[in-house]
Amino acid sequence: MAITRFAPSPTGYLHIGGLRTALYSYLWAKKTNGEFKLRIEDTDQARNSEDAVKAIIEAFDWVGMDSDCEVEYQSKRGDIYTKYINQLLDEGKAYKCYMSRDELDQLRATQEANKETPRYDGRYRDFDGTPPEGIEPVIRIKAPLDGRLEFEDGVKGSMSFNHDQVDDFVIARSNGNPTYNFVVAIDDSLMNMTDVLRGDDHLTNTPKQIVIYNALGFDIPKFYHIPMINNPSGKKLSKRDGAMNVMDYKSQGYLAEALLNFLVRLGWSNGDQEIFSMEEMLSLFDPSNINKSSSAYNEEKLLWLNAHYIKNVSNDRLANELKYFNCEIHGHDKKEMILDLCKERANTLVELKSAIENIMKVPTIYDKKGSKKFIKENTISMLEKYINILELNQDTLHLPVDIELVTKPFIVENELKFPQLFQPIRISLTGGTQAPSVYDVIAVLGVQESIKRIKTAISKNFDKEEI
Ligand code: GLU
Repeated sequence: MAITRFAPSPTGYLHIGGLRTALYSYLWAKKTNGEFKLRIEDTDQARNSEDAVKAIIEAFDWVGMDSDCEVEYQSKRGDIYTKYINQLLDEGKAYKCYMSRDELDQLRATQEANKETPRYDGRYRDFDGTPPEGIEPVIRIKAPLDGRLEFEDGVKGSMSFNHDQVDDFVIARSNGNPTYNFVVAIDDSLMNMTDVLRGDDHLTNTPKQIVIYNALGFDIPKFYHIPMINNPSGKKLSKRDGAMNVMDYKSQGYLAEALLNFLVRLGWSNGDQEIFSMEEMLSLFDPSNINKSSSAYNEEKLLWLNAHYIKNVSNDRLANELKYFNCEIHGHDKKEMILDLCKERANTLVELKSAIENIMKVPTIYDKKGSKKFIKENTISMLEKYINILELNQDTLHLPVDIELVTKPFIVENELKFPQLFQPIRISLTGGTQAPSVYDVIAVLGVQESIKRIKTAISKNFDKEEI
């Protein structure tokens, strides 16, 4: 049973790299009947934003990954951190360091000049003299002076850090605020984490956190450090490549399941399977199969997945999703037909909305180029004849196939080519030449409305205005 968490710092919006880490953590917890917890790491007051916290919570609501406990906020846990800092001081496992900024700068400059890695030199580690005046001390942990810090990473394998890679780092600043590596270790332990999945940009923090676990006698969770998502050319993902707020995916018309399916495959695979329902993800995901190398963001694949889900979710669901885009289709008596028709070609909900509107909105202007090309001298009389056919048969014309049944003979009798009839009708019904099958559009609009639109187009002479 795995207890996992996602612990974003609300210094920016939640982006897809974060959401992927959260998804992996969520899947692993749920698969093992464990718990998934959300913790907002908002100790950095200067860089946190309330909007970012809201956007993170909103994003989790959208994708439906609920925290199994009330969302924890580090900003509300100050007393807990203070308690452990005092405990470490009392036990002699941490100490006050009075080095001034200047002294620290000097030390760093000397080490750099000697081509050494800058690290604290431990000068206050065993200090028992009189502290210098006017300096508020920081608290440092006593990191081990020899040996190696080792752990088995679920993705990277055996990790080993030499003790000199971890100095006596600061666990509380001079203003008393605890530092990141300290609070993460405390929280992960008190929140009973068994498995910590996070981006591999945190790999170098892990030995420091292990020092804290050891100092406090806490159990060390299993770590999985997940390689980054890069852009297709192998560089860090930028906003343009997709590193945007997760909620932007919603407003661009992606379905949550398409995004999650996309993310699960960015860094993990199960053979060459591409489509994963949430149930399949839950039964198949295993963090020990996470790829060791970074993955590449591929927008085309995301669009392809989104198109797949748009075609496969229920029309009721689509109608609900479309409300977000101010497209109300629920009450429409031809809802099923409209959605069946339009979802076939839509890659996003935004495209779906525009395909629906393209049919439903009465055209006020007509495609001039299309009209020039397809509206010939004899077109109007042909359309008038076709209107007659529709009027005569209107009681039997409900489905696309009914329309087809009267239209095909009409085309043959009048020795027409399909576009000669279809394009003028498309232009009449929707204003342009890009609409789906004429049979479908007439069926969706109904014969009465279709006739009305064709008559209006004729009366306006088609090419009055440009679109
Ligand atoms: N708060 C950290 C971040 O947003 C994550 C810490 C962790 O997962 O251990 O990068």
